[in-house]
Amino acid sequence: MIDGHTRVCGVIGSPVEHTMSPAIHNALAKKLSHNLVYVPFHVKTGEVAEAVKGACALNVLGLNVTVPHKKEVMEALAGIDPLAEKIGAVNTLVRTAEGFKGFNTDMPGLYRAMCSEGIRLEGEEVILLGAGGAARAVAFLCAEKGVSKVYMLNRSVEKVRAIAREVEEKTGKDCICPMALSDYPGLPDKKYLAIQATSVGLFPDTDKAVIEDEAFYRKIHTGYDLIYKPSNTRFMQMVRAQKGEAYHGLKMLLYQGIIAYELWNGISVSEDLAEEVYEILKEKTGIRDEG
Ligand code: NAP
Repeated sequence: MIDGHTRVCGVIGSPVEHTMSPAIHNALAKKLSHNLVYVPFHVKTGEVAEAVKGACALNVLGLNVTVPHKKEVMEALAGIDPLAEKIGAVNTLVRTAEGFKGFNTDMPGLYRAMCSEGIRLEGEEVILLGAGGAARAVAFLCAEKGVSKVYMLNRSVEKVRAIAREVEEKTGKDCICPMALSDYPGLPDKKYLAIQATSVGLFPDTDKAVIEDEAFYRKIHTGYDLIYKPSNTRFMQMVRAQKGEAYHGLKMLLYQGIIAYELWNGISVSEDLAEEVYEILKEKTGIRDEG
């Protein structure tokens, strides 16, 4: 029941109406009997600093930040966690005595999602498709977690080269091997974990994969698509057609939310509770785990 003690959290973005985050946070609050509500706030580009200031004055407990504000918000904060600073994007604001501090929970969210599926990064060789905001965070994750080599492929190879330089500067690890997307036939002949971080195949363009050649998919033992709508992307179908394991990105979304909730409330969410919330999220969104 909402009363005088109810704490408010939310997400700022534009558009924000499609967000699945309220399903995650309101389910967590209910399961944990926390007097907390989570709501979407549509904030226009150029008005992010004002929104953050207002939220602080309104005693809002915490905020998520989604597209297109993950960089703009960094100008409006009292502090930024070193990991978010490295990645160059903030998706979670945590209240401190000085004001909101920025964190990035997308990257640790992906890591926890992968761990929950038994996928290892440490010492692996990985193919990373894309060089947008999400792929950039994954490149840092791979470097931080000791991936031995990341073959990072993108349509615009210049973007990958820039990320490779930045990863090396900021982490001291020279593990990113930049490649043009069309050069995939040159990948050494072995089996890889492949992380799909382009927007190709996203609803409504569900009949597309960023690489359509089945010879490429023969090199993949596990394919992780950051896309979760649809839940069985063409990339996943092509991985499975060559007997690989394939996963969609809904658990990444779940865990970035869980980590934000943990930061706001100073708690840890158990794996059992995470599973329960995942079931609720799937039910609410109609997204399934297909084998
Ligand atoms: P972004 O910054 O817009 O980057 C888009 C990427 O896709 C770029 O690498 C771009 O290549 C590539 N691309 C787009 N159209 C292409 C085409 N026709 N052929 C080849 N490459 C193409 O997007 P983002 O924020 O990184 O997000 C990427 C995906 O991750 C989205 O589908 C998003 O839904 C998903 N995502 C999921 C989660 C989650 O929680 N599961 C979180 C974040 C993102 P160029 O650089 O050459 O243009």
